[in-house]
Amino acid sequence: MKIGIRARRKNRYEEWPLHQVAIIGALKLLLVAEGIVILAGHGLIHVGILLLLWLLSYPVIHFGMCRKCCYYGRRCPVPGEGNLVHLLFKKSEKPAGVFGFLLAVLTYVMRFGYPVHFLVNYEYNWIFPTIYYATILVFFLILGRFIGCPNCQKVECPMNPDWSYPHKGLAD
Ligand code: SF4
Repeated sequence: MKIGIRARRKNRYEEWPLHQVAIIGALKLLLVAEGIVILAGHGLIHVGILLLLWLLSYPVIHFGMCRKCCYYGRRCPVPGEGNLVHLLFKKSEKPAGVFGFLLAVLTYVMRFGYPVHFLVNYEYNWIFPTIYYATILVFFLILGRFIGCPNCQKVECPMNPDWSYPHKGLAD
């Protein structure tokens, strides 16, 4: 069985069904909750920093990616992104480019990096890192393999099943 980097095409959604977005949303909430559990023992200030980082990660991804995305103002697989970007930024027709990609990476460092920093630098029972890293893996796996990428029309994204370089648009 051949396993490629990109998912296989399933659909080409204009907007994602609510139940699929809810699964990704639930995983995001689970990651926030796990982050809180990891940080709570170090003081509420760290929990506050984590929540602030999550909050600030939205304008970062909105600016870097979502305002340049075909799902601008529509329900994309990740709740709070395509469906909320229009509240903060006007649509841009320019490609996201390397800078946009770097901001997307920064987004996830902001969301997941703070608890990881504590897991790496302080002593934890093996259960904490196992559960946290496993949840991150499941999040990206479900997003990239089952819910997001297989149904996405953003062909300029290198993870898209129809991606080609130079971009030729959607495959038939
Ligand atoms: S193909 Fe790219 S833009 Fe579309 S869901 Fe996957 S990672 Fe996001």
